[in-house]
Amino acid sequence: MSEIEKAIELIKIIDVNHDFEDSKINKEFHDTVPLLFQALREKQEREKGCDYCKTMKNLPFEEHDVYIDGNGKLDVDDDEDFQLNFCPMCGRKLEESK
Ligand SMILES: [Zn+2]
Repeated sequence: MSEIEKAIELIKIIDVNHDFEDSKINKEFHDTVPLLFQALREKQEREKGCDYCKTMKNLPFEEHDVYIDGNGKLDVDDDEDFQLNFCPMCGRKLEESK
């Protein structure tokens, strides 16, 4: 189970089993739970990556051959590469492999 899945499970347990004494805080917490899940699931999706940053699929540029190599570098027509911090297509964080 990933850290995110653990966090989702933990929040589910709190949501179902716990009420805060302060009714205002309690309502705010339980109303916020769907947003917490949504944020965590979005993070989970981003971390999976996409074809562009996982399989070096060519990015949709008509005139150039552009892809992200396995080290998170943008390769344009076999010219000089430059390091990307995030995949421009799915937002996954990219890192230079060591
Ligand atoms: Zn991607």
